[in-house]
Amino acid sequence: MRKQIVAGNWKMNKTFEEADELLFELAEGIEPIELENVEVVICPPALYLEMSTDVGLENGFSVGAQNCSNKEGGAYTGEISAEMLKSLDVDYCIVGHSERRKYFKETAQELAEKVNLLLDNDITPIFCCGEVIEERDQNIHFQVVQKQIENSLFHLTDDEMANVVIAYEPVWAIGTGRTATSDQAQEMHAFIRQILKGKYGNELAEGLSVIYGGSCNAQNARELFAQPDVDGGLIGGASLNAADFLTIIKSVK
Ligand code: PEP
Repeated sequence: MRKQIVAGNWKMNKTFEEADELLFELAEGIEPIELENVEVVICPPALYLEMSTDVGLENGFSVGAQNCSNKEGGAYTGEISAEMLKSLDVDYCIVGHSERRKYFKETAQELAEKVNLLLDNDITPIFCCGEVIEERDQNIHFQVVQKQIENSLFHLTDDEMANVVIAYEPVWAIGTGRTATSDQAQEMHAFIRQILKGKYGNELAEGLSVIYGGSCNAQNARELFAQPDVDGGLIGGASLNAADFLTIIKSVK
C-alpha cells in the first residue's frame, strides 16, 4: 500500500510562543493515534524548524521546510540551503508552492534545481502542481499540470523520482474555502499517475504518493482521502489548529 501523508503547511503564521504551543498540542494529540501507514509532516516557518524536529523526533512526526534555495551554498543572503535543512534533521521540503510561483516568480528550472539539491541531501521534495481557475475554465488543466511535472521532475532518474511526493493543489482552491470535489481530485490524481506511468513505468507510478491540497479541512478530508489515487493531503489553514489537523490525520484511509 502507498504511504499516506498528511503535511501541514503553516506558511508565514505563528509567533515563537504560538508555534511552541501548537507543537505541544500536536505532540500530545498525535502520540495516541495509530500511525501505521500515515506519515505526518509539520512544515513550520524556517525559524521554528529546529524546535519542531526536536518535538517531532520524540513524538512520531516528521518535519518539512516550506522552501529551500536553488543554490548549494555561499553568498546568497537570506537563503537557506538543502544541506542546512538536512543538518537540522528536516526530512521533507515543499517545492513550487503556488504562492512561491506567483509572488516570488519561481521558474520551472529553479524548481528542478531545488529538487536536485534536496534529493542530494536525502530530503523528500513535496512537489506542488496545479492550475489556476482560468486554465480549468479553458479545460487545459491537465496539460498545465503535465507540463509542470515534466519541466521540473522528468529529468530525474527512476531512483530519484521514487523519492518524490507530488501534491496536486488547484490554485483556485488554496485558501479560498472552495475545495475541489472528490471526483475532481481523483480525476487529476489518476491523470498524474498515468503520466508518471508513461515515463517511469507502472511499479514506480503505483508506489508514489500523490497528495491533495486546497481548502482540505476536518469536514471534507475523509471523502477526499477515500479516493483511490489520493494519498493524503497538504493542509494550509486547517493545520494551524491542532484539533482540526488531528481530525484530518484521523481521516486517512
Ligand atoms: C496550501 O497552502 O498548500 C493549502 C492547501 O492551503 P489551504 O489548505 O489553506 O487551502
